[in-house]
Amino acid sequence: KSIHSRADWSSDSDSDSSGSESLYRVVLLGDHGVGKSSLANIFAGIQEKDAHKHAGEDIYEKTLTVDEEETTLVVMDTWETEKQEEDEKWVQDYCMQVGNAYIIVYSITDRSSFESASELRIQLRRIRQAENIPIILVGNKSDLVRSREVAVEEGRACAVVFDCKFIETSASLHHNVHELFEGIVRQIRLRQDSKEI
Ligand code: GDP
Ligand code: MG
Repeated sequence: KSIHSRADWSSDSDSDSSGSESLYRVVLLGDHGVGKSSLANIFAGIQEKDAHKHAGEDIYEKTLTVDEEETTLVVMDTWETEKQEEDEKWVQDYCMQVGNAYIIVYSITDRSSFESASELRIQLRRIRQAENIPIILVGNKSDLVRSREVAVEEGRACAVVFDCKFIETSASLHHNVHELFEGIVRQIRLRQDSKEI
């Protein structure tokens, strides 16, 4: 698999320690089929018709200007692998360790994916106990109104319980997707600023 990233994989979680440029790893978590890769492709600016050309790529780097300030995100769509099961376990453990921020995705049309999202949040909290990592819970496929199984209020309430941000998106309509990544940048900055004080 090709890795489109300058991120230093061996460094610890303090990616800001090296100087002026800030670079943060954002890991997408969630069940198969909820729309992780679709969201990552939009982040990377890959058109749906060209998605096949990028098959096998799963790490994307892009600099965003949010509130007149630049931040580079390395978005990792590495949670699911086509490899052996034992590799998958290793990759998933790794994903849980390396993120500076997390996007936990479920589909509003699939209640079991909503339940998985809660489990992932609990797992993450256990593994990264002492850290106050930014997490955004995402209810994707908001365009599929007639197949909705999870109400907006349920998503919002879940985010309150799990102390994270919440947004509903539609990768198909590109609705709220840029807001999602801008939101991650703002959450990262908030944590960063409070560390410096
Ligand atoms: P992943 O397994 O989490 O990476 O999910 P994918 O990004 O591969 O998406 C799974 C399927 O759901 C694909 O057929 C996508 O086209 C579709 N999909 C993803 N996001 C949306 C969305 O917001 N709305 C609708 N209607 N379909 C979506
Ligand atoms: Mg995928």
